[in-house]
Amino acid sequence: MAALPEPPPLPPPLPAPAVDTHGHLSDPRLAPTAERLLARAAAVGVAYVVDPAVDAASAETALAHARRFPRAVRAAVGVHPHEAAALGPDDWARVEALAADPLCVAVGEVGLDHQRVFSPPAVQEECLERSLDLARRLDKPVLLHVRAAYRRTLEILDGAGRVRGILHAFWGDRETAEAFLVRGFLLGVGGAVTFRREEGLRQVIAALPPGSFVLETDAPYLAPEPVRGRTNEPALVAYTARRVAAVRGVEVAELVRETTAAAARLLGWPAE
Ligand SMILES: [Zn+2]
Repeated sequence: MAALPEPPPLPPPLPAPAVDTHGHLSDPRLAPTAERLLARAAAVGVAYVVDPAVDAASAETALAHARRFPRAVRAAVGVHPHEAAALGPDDWARVEALAADPLCVAVGEVGLDHQRVFSPPAVQEECLERSLDLARRLDKPVLLHVRAAYRRTLEILDGAGRVRGILHAFWGDRETAEAFLVRGFLLGVGGAVTFRREEGLRQVIAALPPGSFVLETDAPYLAPEPVRGRTNEPALVAYTARRVAAVRGVEVAELVRETTAAAARLLGWPAE
């Protein structure tokens, strides 16, 4: 049996409890070691993780994590645009039922991806519209995945009535940030803000109003510097938190308290 790969080194612990608002513990690469990953996260002050599903099966796993680790994990339940075309006739009813679980704090991850078109755009749009409708009926926020489809997403949001949420893995310009902020969305700031070439993104993040963004990993993807390219995990959001604090010229403790409070206001968890 092959030895497990050495996990990436951890940053120094954060001075206040942080939330990874988008860590896919339900991903098959992370689920088998979820308990160890949560222990590593807790050791550096990442006390809370939202585990977003991408389909009905991963929604079951995410909710199982929330039941097994009720202090540390909540689920988000939804159908990722990549998975929209694979949705079976009974899957949607299952997603709707799972999203109503009290341990599900958001509908997600849902959205539009016109960069890697694994599902036809029309199918993605129908899936997104159903998801927004579900979020409104359940009065839960949405976790939005948007790639190369900002304008179309905004049109659909404007047609959907009042929906709140997080624009996950924010990687846009100031106009895009403002378009989502005025619609009541928060921005999910992840590993991209640490990448060497992303000076423009750092400038956008530096200018955001306090309380308008939250932290995330998108684990197992998008590991931050200095461990870019490794398998991402919730603990590594601590690297991102330190970098964002430096970019904004604030103390790490202040940055963490501010982002945790923003997550709590939107998601209703962790308790304020
Ligand atoms: Zn994701």
